[in-house]
Amino acid sequence: MLSYLHAFHAGNFADVQKHAALTLALAMMQAKKTPIACFDTHAGSAMYDLASDRARKTAEADSGIQRLWAMRQRLSSPDWRPMLEVLARHNGAGETLAHYPGSPAWFAELARPGDSVTAFELHPSEGRALEAWARDAGVRVLQQDGLAGLVRQLPPPQPRLLTLIDPSYEIKDDYQQVSDTLHKAWKKCRHGVYLIWYPILTSGLEQRLISELEKGEVRKILRHEVRLDQPPERGMVGSGMLVVNPPWGFEQRLAAMMDDVQGEPGLGLSQSLNWLVPE
Ligand code: SAM
Repeated sequence: MLSYLHAFHAGNFADVQKHAALTLALAMMQAKKTPIACFDTHAGSAMYDLASDRARKTAEADSGIQRLWAMRQRLSSPDWRPMLEVLARHNGAGETLAHYPGSPAWFAELARPGDSVTAFELHPSEGRALEAWARDAGVRVLQQDGLAGLVRQLPPPQPRLLTLIDPSYEIKDDYQQVSDTLHKAWKKCRHGVYLIWYPILTSGLEQRLISELEKGEVRKILRHEVRLDQPPERGMVGSGMLVVNPPWGFEQRLAAMMDDVQGEPGLGLSQSLNWLVPE
């Protein structure tokens, strides 16, 4: 029984890192004309109301996307532009954001006519909301397990692949499942770009994913982490992204984006970047 609802967390510091990496990877891949198959294995419900009771209960966006929006004139990396333009389209130029796109909406907003977007979601009510949104967004929704579903869909008909794997890690076994899925998917599509999000926890549970990948076959895995300068005593203290086959120069450009927000009062993050597995 799935109980995680992303509406409580939409636009938090982890979403800022995750969606920055997603929009950058997609923009860099789109520098070539060849079409891209985009897969979102854990999509959520696509659009979030930042004034809803759920969002206000945690107020996580206040120290995430709302801070980024407030400092948008001071961001020096041009790679924030696609995100800022999408946010402006949904929110106008006001000082506070009311709407925040989830990952399938970032894909849909930035995909070109030849690119395809497939989104998986297993939670029944999230799946229904996603389905309703997707009708006008040109996104194919599959209400099924995104890990097994991804492997079934590969290789895609398009020459290139971008996948986001972003589980809620409600089940401890998810760390192992993500590693197993990446291995299976990579064997079917070795040139694909895979983005894998994980929480950095005081329990260290995410180390299972990291150590499985360190000893596995998949090559060229970049690890980018952001850690809260004032972490809670227990729970999530940071946010990690693994990027398999990042486009050339991706690491410098992602680091430049996150440099813009590093140490920003209210956001309070430090970043680290290294190759978990080299080429
Ligand atoms: N990717 C979204 C974003 O960036 O806006 C957030 C996704 S949220 C962290 C994880 C989602 O995965 C939840 O909506 C949850 O219901 C869904 N989920 C959990 N297990 C799943 C599975 N095996 N297959 C597909 N979706 C799943």
